[in-house]
Amino acid sequence: MSTYYTSVQAGANNFTAKPVRLGDNLITILRQQGFTEKDREKVLASHAGLRSLFLTLDTRYLVRKDGNEVELRMFDSQTSDAFKIQKKNGIVTAAAYQPNFKVEMTRIQGKIHGSILGSVLSKINSNWVATRFTDAYAFDIKSSKDVRRGANYWFFVAKQYEMGQFVKYGEVTQTSLEINGQAVHKKFIRHKDGGVFFNDQDLLENRPFFSPVNYIKIASTFQPNRLHPITRRLQPHLGVDFELPVGEPVQAARSGVVVRYGNNHAAGNYIVLMHSNGIETAYNHLHKIDRKIRSGLKVMAGEKIAEVGCTGYCTRAHLHFAVKMKGRMVNPMNYIKPYPRSMQAMLEARVAQN
Ligand SMILES: [Zn+2]
Repeated sequence: MSTYYTSVQAGANNFTAKPVRLGDNLITILRQQGFTEKDREKVLASHAGLRSLFLTLDTRYLVRKDGNEVELRMFDSQTSDAFKIQKKNGIVTAAAYQPNFKVEMTRIQGKIHGSILGSVLSKINSNWVATRFTDAYAFDIKSSKDVRRGANYWFFVAKQYEMGQFVKYGEVTQTSLEINGQAVHKKFIRHKDGGVFFNDQDLLENRPFFSPVNYIKIASTFQPNRLHPITRRLQPHLGVDFELPVGEPVQAARSGVVVRYGNNHAAGNYIVLMHSNGIETAYNHLHKIDRKIRSGLKVMAGEKIAEVGCTGYCTRAHLHFAVKMKGRMVNPMNYIKPYPRSMQAMLEARVAQN
């Protein structure tokens, strides 16, 4: 069986799906659809989610036109937020709504030539999908030599339909990739508002830290020798960036003690924890630091200490997570488990059942 379906209905409505194009944003789209400057201000003032609406080139929006009426359905590409925007007889309304997505699973397969990201993009033109596939193996690939030229891969990804039209991709749910000649399978396991890519082998690895977040989507990796693209100066990235929406919980990666916390112009709101053997973990760009946090406070592994944000040097909400051992910054991906503390018991039970 290569695909399975829930039925995708051709809706009895007049919505047309339009692809998001380079340079499009909510304002340009509203302008194209005949919304005046005043109308556009009204739309932006209606809901905070509309001011931060994030559209990417692999998503679509819906338009329905009927006499004196224009209706738009917009979908945030990072979150499940969706919005209805209407102009009827000159009156503008805009509000969040709950879409009734129909989901169709589709299977993609191919061989790796060049980068994993590039190979997947050549089969499915979506940065989101290609990135999620590489996220599935973020803990497994230690060197680019581990994935040989011509290595086979496949995965399932959800296609989401609204009013009978494809609007955006959902989660990658099952994956396979040949690593050192062996097919390594992963399954996306949902948990709370997140979830992680997992296989039974992941429980056996002896890693000292848990993931500090419930959803592992990597926006930037540990790169001690990164060069600035223009100045060619060394601009190392000494942690890993996990992309999550503002407000998502940040958890202590291991039990420890708060040694520093506060705010500075680069890190934004930050917390540093000290663990056994003098190992430190740092959490930057936080939206809110929990009120209980003070120097010397003991925290347990998995305990919530803050919320994800975008304070300090930051363009999109994320957690910058760093690990310091024996005075040196090390790659966190070599030391954290591919799941948060709160998922451990569930994953152990799952493996025990197999
Ligand atoms: Zn970072």
